[in-house]
Amino acid sequence: MRLVFLGAPGVGKGTQADKAAVQYRIRKISTGDLLREAVRNQTPLGLEAKEHMDQGRLVPDSVVIGLVREKLADPLYVNGFILDGFPRTVPQAEALAKVLDERSLQLDRVINFMVSRSEIVKRLSGRRSCPKCQATYHVEFAPSKSGSLCGRCGETLVQRSDDRPEAIETRLRVYEEQTAPLIDFYEKKRLLSHLNGAETVDTVYRNLVKALAAPQTA
Ligand code: AMP
Repeated sequence: MRLVFLGAPGVGKGTQADKAAVQYRIRKISTGDLLREAVRNQTPLGLEAKEHMDQGRLVPDSVVIGLVREKLADPLYVNGFILDGFPRTVPQAEALAKVLDERSLQLDRVINFMVSRSEIVKRLSGRRSCPKCQATYHVEFAPSKSGSLCGRCGETLVQRSDDRPEAIETRLRVYEEQTAPLIDFYEKKRLLSHLNGAETVDTVYRNLVKALAAPQTA
């Protein structure tokens, strides 16, 4: 199964991709996670990406396309994958189509997760993460049992620099301007299914499984 999970930041696509990856025995490719890892390791790619990410802007297409192209060449992904947070622009979607075409592969489905803007802001601004083990929490909806420390490894939790209010505003604007056009792009290719992402994690997941089992009708 080759899937793309589409949606604004904070709609929960990463959480859903983690669950689906286990059930369908395919791997998740999150460009956000790959870029954050590069930033932590201070690689040349990470150094180039950091400033864009901190401001909530997109990293240049050429950088992320190169990253995904390299991943998809790895035999680990031959049985399928879930792309989480890629593509985010029309040129990225076109590049993905080309990479898959070169391997005579096709996307099976694009899932568009929908959540209202006010709910997204609430989700992102309360998000905290562990800089050591990468566990994530939410101050209101999923607090750590250890307060401001990670419940798993005891490290002090931090707020992602791009979850600060100014960066959240920029990320939502960038989503509207550059990523939302992909809804139309994939609708025209008859690959798109819409899901309400505002329900609980388990309900969204149940609906996702149903959507993946249903024939494409768009
Ligand atoms: P995410 O964790 O998916 O919200 O990504 C965090 C940040 O990484 C984004 O705000 C961008 O700066 C960068 N990023 C992730 N994926 C992409 C992409 N496909 N294209 C450009 N920038 C990206």
